[in-house]
Amino acid sequence: MANAKDDKLADYRQKRDFRKTAEPSGQSAPSGGDKPIFVVHKHDASRLHYDLRLQIGDTLASWAVPKGPSLDPAQKRLAVHVEDHPLDYADFEGTIPENEYGGGTVMVWDCGTVKFKEEGKTPQQWLDEGHIEFELNGVKLKGQWVLIQTRMRGEAKNWLLRKRSGPHASDRGDVLADQPDSVKTGRSMEQIAAGAKPSAG
Ligand code: MN
Repeated sequence: MANAKDDKLADYRQKRDFRKTAEPSGQSAPSGGDKPIFVVHKHDASRLHYDLRLQIGDTLASWAVPKGPSLDPAQKRLAVHVEDHPLDYADFEGTIPENEYGGGTVMVWDCGTVKFKEEGKTPQQWLDEGHIEFELNGVKLKGQWVLIQTRMRGEAKNWLLRKRSGPHASDRGDVLADQPDSVKTGRSMEQIAAGAKPSAG
């Protein structure tokens, strides 16, 4: 009974053993708000990186951003296109066992809604064309952003993430260092790794 969503998640599921990891398998129905969502996971795997995930249809299109997003439009950040994740992954915060795929600590660093530029195209068409213009409405990330496929070193998976100029752009400070903790639970990476309970409120 394969459907489009299962096809898009085949790579995600193939990489993981759901008897060993607490990550969702994507079997449950999506929560289904009317606006597409985004999440940025801070992921301390073999190397610390940030995973940007944008809801396109019924999965989360995903990019691993080694240096994380910058609010400075002059900063282009490498964004490596990786496998789609299930929608319920957006809430995932915790630890992945050491020897499993992506083993390490995962934090919900930011989340909110995403609005794709239209111009007569669907988000899937923007993705397929390797150029996505979008607006984020999160806690830490807001305003206009762009993802462009560069095919650097002949690799189709290599894209660049950049902030567009505007009221939410800034060339001062570093949003990663200034706001390091979870927007979901307020916890630090160390507290998540130690399995600390989320603080109330
Ligand atoms: Mn990751």
